[in-house]
Amino acid sequence: MITKSLTELSTSLKAGDFSSVELTQFYLDRIAKYDGELNSFITVTEEQALAGAKAADEQIAAGTAGALTGIPMAHKDLFCTDGVRTSCASKMLGNFIAPYNATVVEKLNAAGMPMLGKTNMDEFAMGSSNENSYYGAVKNPWDLERVPGGSSGGSAVAVAARLAPVATGTDTGGSIRQPASLTGITGIKPTYGRVSRFGMIAYASSLDQGGIFGTSASDCAMVLETMSGFDPKDSTSVERDVPNMSASLNDSIKGLKIGLPKEFFGEGLDSSVAEVVNDAIEEYKKLGAEIVEISLPNTHLAIPSYYVIAPAEASSNLSRFDGVRYGYRCEAPVDLTDMYMRSRGEGFGTEVKRRIMTGTYALSAGYYDAYYLKAQKIRRLISDDFKKAFEKVDVIMGPVAPETAFKLGEKTDDPISMYLADIYTLSLNLAGLTGMSVPAGFSKNNKMPVGLQIIGNYFEEAKLLNVAHQYQQVTDWHKQAPSAYTGGE
Ligand code: GLN
Repeated sequence: MITKSLTELSTSLKAGDFSSVELTQFYLDRIAKYDGELNSFITVTEEQALAGAKAADEQIAAGTAGALTGIPMAHKDLFCTDGVRTSCASKMLGNFIAPYNATVVEKLNAAGMPMLGKTNMDEFAMGSSNENSYYGAVKNPWDLERVPGGSSGGSAVAVAARLAPVATGTDTGGSIRQPASLTGITGIKPTYGRVSRFGMIAYASSLDQGGIFGTSASDCAMVLETMSGFDPKDSTSVERDVPNMSASLNDSIKGLKIGLPKEFFGEGLDSSVAEVVNDAIEEYKKLGAEIVEISLPNTHLAIPSYYVIAPAEASSNLSRFDGVRYGYRCEAPVDLTDMYMRSRGEGFGTEVKRRIMTGTYALSAGYYDAYYLKAQKIRRLISDDFKKAFEKVDVIMGPVAPETAFKLGEKTDDPISMYLADIYTLSLNLAGLTGMSVPAGFSKNNKMPVGLQIIGNYFEEAKLLNVAHQYQQVTDWHKQAPSAYTGGE
């Protein structure tokens, strides 16, 4: 069952080989069996899942089912889900029951996909290792002593350990691509504006974008084309037709121009990661692609500018969590100020507080020009670098992260070294482009998965998925799964 693609699952459901209730129960059983040690779910919504599956079975029987009807999935616990706790992995929202669905959830519900549960993440999506969760760290199924990457680590692990066929994630600075790379699955971050942010709890509004994890590019295509599209409820969503992303998967990529930014292959890149990425590029040459060396000269400024802009926006977005309107309120406050201060002090974790303080500082009257405005100017330079590059190439490739999954606890006391893990992912978000991570092999020194990053021009998700799918036709890295969780099934 766990080796079937979404298309195969769909065919089997319609042929009556098994029902959606059986398929959903199968995944619920796997979650019950394995998630104790992986910790990829914060909430398992068994009742909703089975009710959704029953409704899907009725649609299948009535002949009104769509391609995804009856296939269960999981949602990152940052997407609001009507009547279900939506915690953002924070104590602050530990008691928050969302009163409505995020548009993404609404669309996938409407497509008939039962929800298995809500996945673990870094608190408010701030982190690169999934160690910043109030509900505890998520473990990498390839090695339980290692991180799965963050912030969408729970969704990535749920798919990597085959506890869900697909799962949503969000990517503000790498949070889909990086955990996909570190856990050996496929993940795509769409162009900013492609997927509605309505009902996605905001971290950094000008960077946040919802996307999807799956085991293959073709699975991701099926779900992404369903969750994309203009949403009048999100003023930053773009009014633009969504192509049938599955239809172009088999297009030939002969003559495809692949840009390799020299800044992505320099100092700081682990040699065993470089080796895997270079092998993948060799494979693309065999498929007829042409390699072009390019430069993204402002890459080194991505970390400093992102780590001003994202916290600045976060400090503003998170001001709504004040103990009055949502979530946690401290016990017995003596007055209003005490209530604000203690509710926020007790409700937020360390990294979230660090971001709020940095962001507030960067936006303060005396420092606004020196930090925030400067960071915005750098952001433009970074976008211009990509603009120039895309005049010469169709896609850009490189590593996702400078190293494979590191050990739990290894970087928790050193925020700067944690931020450095984002060096190859942040610039794409600053520019608003689309990017994905595709499993490309395993590091020679620790046998951990390595992803290849593919970056596309605005709204070229279908092209990226096509480029990834062609690679997955000639390699089987994406089919490899951690045997401790997948043996014999
Ligand atoms: N690691 C980055 C951060 O902590 C990106 C997180 C994300 O994409 N949500 O901000």
